[in-house]
Amino acid sequence: RPNVGKSSLFNRMIGERLAITDDASGITRDRMYAQAEWLGKQFNVIDTGGIELSDAPFLTEIKAQVEIAIEEADVIVMVTDGRSGMVDDDRFIMKMLYAVKKPILIAVNKVDDQKYVPDIYDFYQLGGDDVIGISTHHGIGMGDLLDRIVAVLPEKEADPYDESTIRIALIGRPNVGKSSLTNAILGEERVIVSPIQGTTTDAIDTPFTSGDQSYVVIDTAGLRKRGKLWESVEKYSALRAMQAIDRSDVVLLVIDAETVIIEQDKHIAGYALDHSKAMILVVNKWDTIQKNDATMSEWIQKLRYEFQFLTYIPIAFVSAKNKQRIPTLFPLIQKAFENYQRRISTSVLNEVITDAISLNPPKDHNRIKLKVYYATQVAIKCPTFVLFVNEPEAMHFSYQRYLENRLRERFDFEGTPIKIILRKRD
Ligand code: GDP
Ligand code: GDP
Repeated sequence: RPNVGKSSLFNRMIGERLAITDDASGITRDRMYAQAEWLGKQFNVIDTGGIELSDAPFLTEIKAQVEIAIEEADVIVMVTDGRSGMVDDDRFIMKMLYAVKKPILIAVNKVDDQKYVPDIYDFYQLGGDDVIGISTHHGIGMGDLLDRIVAVLPEKEADPYDESTIRIALIGRPNVGKSSLTNAILGEERVIVSPIQGTTTDAIDTPFTSGDQSYVVIDTAGLRKRGKLWESVEKYSALRAMQAIDRSDVVLLVIDAETVIIEQDKHIAGYALDHSKAMILVVNKWDTIQKNDATMSEWIQKLRYEFQFLTYIPIAFVSAKNKQRIPTLFPLIQKAFENYQRRISTSVLNEVITDAISLNPPKDHNRIKLKVYYATQVAIKCPTFVLFVNEPEAMHFSYQRYLENRLRERFDFEGTPIKIILRKRD
């Protein structure tokens, strides 16, 4: 229910991660779902309190939250207020959650002080799998709560596709043409087998081949229209997209040539970026645009401006309806996937970094002179590099950006993010 501290708890859970990732992309983030990590386990946190249904009655909001709990969540944290004690609304909400066959943890918030601890025990009446007293203000009980959450998280099922299969997720706002485009892609190519039931209960993946390459479109079922309640809250369908992104290699961010780009498009792109996925920007409904020789390059210019934090993503122009230019997508996807798993040898990498530094030596930052000793690639999907430095604090973000740009000039990383991690070494 409102004001128990859901948003505060959400921020506590993801705070550190936001602090790490926020600086790079320069975009506003949707604060409703974010990735969190505890004891090496990663999970997505959904703040249902972030939903605004201003003129909807309370009941509608609760119902919508329960629907999320049933459909999307693996673990439910029912947040209550230890100061106000248990109220009828708590019982009411718990009753609605009764049907949900998922772990329910009751977090009794605002237990800022030992003296409130006895009040926690009341909440055992609600049932649930456990009751944990917390204070989001003081950070009390957070470790206990997170321990309990990761303990009841289900093990991630492995996707049944081999390493060479490119997992594609189509994402974008409602009505941009994701379903039509999926059909156009599948219609164009050979669909191998019947759709595979994916990891989430009602996710359906559709595998196909194009040339020698095997692909799978992640969660085609999610691209179908949802129920009315679901659709009335646009954000909910985005949740589904988030899960598809998590399971994909290459994200096709679909936008509609007929409508202007809005924050939501950027949020979705930002999420894919956060999760280190390769990406293609697909402009659909290209048939609706009056074109001349300059149109496409004008569009590219405009889109590069809108998505400044994604300078490296290829842009495709298609019409799902008229099945125009659909085949142009496959080479772009393949290329992005190839770059997404590119490995750079340590010697060549160090050569490039050394050259970059001697060409443009770093200025002192935080009164410290940066020294880079050594670089090595530690991961693919996306390519991730560790730089051993004298002092991470001495790295200005613009200098890190410069190094990243040098890497991009030297190696083909089109379509994929790359990550640079700094490690201190004496
Ligand atoms: P939500 O509506 O459930 O998302 O609740 P919010 O996170 O917006 O918090 C509601 C109010 O409770 C705010 O005024 C918070 O400052 C306050 N609050 C949240 N956590 C705590 C806490 O641990 N202790 C105290 N005393 N107040 C808290
Ligand atoms: P989704 O909500 O993103 O899955 O979008 P849909 O695939 O359901 O498409 C939404 C609407 O846009 C439908 O009326 C489609 O017929 C229309 N549409 C989809 N692709 C195109 C296209 O390439 N050109 C035009 N003119 N309309 C399209």
